[in-house]
Amino acid sequence: MQHTARKRFGQNFLQDKGIINAIITAANIKEADTVIEIGPGLGALTIPLLQKVNHLHLIEIDKDIIEYLRTLPNQNQMDIHEGDVLRFDFNSIAGKKKIIGNLPYNISTPLLFKLTDYVDNIIDMHFMLQKEVVERMCANPNSKDYGRLSVMLQYFFDMEKIIDVPPEAFEPAPKVDSAVIRMIPDVGRIGIVNDINTFSQLLTQSFAMRRKTIRNNLKKIANDEEMAQVGINATMRPEDISPQNYVKLSNLLNEKAKNQG
Ligand code: SAM
Repeated sequence: MQHTARKRFGQNFLQDKGIINAIITAANIKEADTVIEIGPGLGALTIPLLQKVNHLHLIEIDKDIIEYLRTLPNQNQMDIHEGDVLRFDFNSIAGKKKIIGNLPYNISTPLLFKLTDYVDNIIDMHFMLQKEVVERMCANPNSKDYGRLSVMLQYFFDMEKIIDVPPEAFEPAPKVDSAVIRMIPDVGRIGIVNDINTFSQLLTQSFAMRRKTIRNNLKKIANDEEMAQVGINATMRPEDISPQNYVKLSNLLNEKAKNQG
């Protein structure tokens, strides 16, 4: 099909057969799995996926692409969900799911945060993303890549970069390097938070000014003694605090709010 790639939909179509095969193999899909592909585009992953699985759910926003997908031979094997994945209710598809996609890079961060809401119904996810985003997701403390995205996603998932992908693997070639990440739900590995909203707000506040101390970032919500109780020295920078200590601080602040309320 003739299709001019749309920048606003982050369209960079995968061409490299070796990379496509590597992603499909890594996703380890069985016939009976419930599989969702985000952003099928012109079918680079969709067509090989249809050879592995009995039924495939596709979420796509571009009307021209949807029209094209409706001309593919295996219609009885697919459900095409038209619209914005950021508004999609993943619970509308029953069962535990495997999710896969060469994601539109312009919406990857909000999409990753949204997917944390569905963690209980996800088996695993394999995503192509900007390499820089993958590095931030997997980053450890004491590094410039470590931040809110790292801590929040590490709370919910065990994550591993599995394939590096150069710009030439796509048409048109993106300006950045890419990488494929595997994400497996694993809540509890860094502790359990009592209230996810408190945790999320704490992370937003903590990393608001990266160059400042945690004392400075949290001056409205936590004092030095409270931080010390969970092993945080108030003169530390937000990037030097472990995910485990953010969990502990979140629970302490949550308890404090309950006692005050
Ligand atoms: N899977 C194809 C491939 O690998 O060649 C296309 C990948 S392309 C990077 C991203 C795809 O996501 C495009 O098909 C684009 O139209 C679609 N897309 C972009 N924004 C979307 C959104 N908000 N909701 C659903 N699909 C979206």
